[in-house]
Amino acid sequence: MTHKGKHTICIHDGEIKDTQFGGAVSPIFMASSYPFLDVDSMRYPRMFNTPNQEAIGIKIAALEHAEAGLPFASGMAAISTSLLAFLEPGDHVVFQNEIYGGTFRFANEELEKFGIDYSFTDGIQASDFEEKITDNTKVIYIETPSNPLLTIMDIESIAKLAKRKNLISMIDNTFASPINQTPLDFGIDISIHSATKYLGGHSDMLAGAVVGSRDHIQEISNKGKNLGGNISDFMCYLLERSIKTLGVRVEKHNENAQYIAQFLENHKDIVKVYYPGLTSHPNHNIAKRQMNGFGGMLSFELKDQFNVKEFQKSLKMIKPSMSLAGVESTILMPTLTSHTSLTEEEKKKQGISNNLLRFSVGIENKEDIIQDLVQAIQNQIK
Ligand SMILES: *Cc1c(COP(=O)(O)O)cnc(C)c1O
Repeated sequence: MTHKGKHTICIHDGEIKDTQFGGAVSPIFMASSYPFLDVDSMRYPRMFNTPNQEAIGIKIAALEHAEAGLPFASGMAAISTSLLAFLEPGDHVVFQNEIYGGTFRFANEELEKFGIDYSFTDGIQASDFEEKITDNTKVIYIETPSNPLLTIMDIESIAKLAKRKNLISMIDNTFASPINQTPLDFGIDISIHSATKYLGGHSDMLAGAVVGSRDHIQEISNKGKNLGGNISDFMCYLLERSIKTLGVRVEKHNENAQYIAQFLENHKDIVKVYYPGLTSHPNHNIAKRQMNGFGGMLSFELKDQFNVKEFQKSLKMIKPSMSLAGVESTILMPTLTSHTSLTEEEKKKQGISNNLLRFSVGIENKEDIIQDLVQAIQNQIK
């Protein structure tokens, strides 16, 4: 099937015509009260069916070649609602070993209360997932590229396994964004985003999104009405505005990250660079097959003699930040922030060194980003 161009979808799909004044952009409809004459005509923000919520759903669905889409108030609302929509007491879900910290906590702290059983894989091959599947497994959940080591999973092999075992497959597609990866084309059932990241892209909003078949999205919507993680119409407007430039932003993120990854890989004070666009990445060929671009996220490890915290403080433009995927470059030390709770042994097992930095490459001029990195490295050497 051929699809419309991504940039065109980013700008036009789902837009609401301003029939009153003919304005060029979708109006915001903030109403939480609409006519209620019979059940079929009910509109209410918690029903995911205000004009702006529907408009965003159409746009994100088109971007990922899905039948339907739903916006949420946060990535975690999208993830938790999607999981709870398909898991009943007594069911089991298999998670990839490396997943976003919030999803990991949701699994460990919440699922048991719903009587839902779960396992994490020991590796990233389809066979590692198959090994954990039990008679009551219902869902397989992956994340690629993953955080913070940019591990690449073979999406198609997981989708095939899920189909063969009659399971629902879900992916956290946040790091790739719909521009770089359309998992439904490889047979995945449900693709989820923290729209706080690339879809939003300006570090000024919190939102989530889910896309899938009409039936699956209906089930998630039904569950969402009970859980209430709905997005406001104002945020829908901001998200629509942001997505208009998603294509051009992500292409620039891709270009900058590739250039910087190669520069760092050749730098004498850098031990290792993790980026799926490097031929040295163990799954570069899988990434090439399933991604249109390799994304704006990379990680690198400074040599042992460096004080990584001081290195971060020496940066003049690149900001230390917990979040990622904004137009500005940000950096984070997983062992001091997102992954502090891991023991030394767990860190070692996951390959997360104390000198590792996760770098969200922005869309500034790449020479300026490199200059900032270089001056901070030199500052440490003197
Ligand atoms: C940030 C993030 C989330 C959670 O999204 P929120 O919008 O913060 O709720 C989920 N998955 C990934 C990969 C993320 O980076």
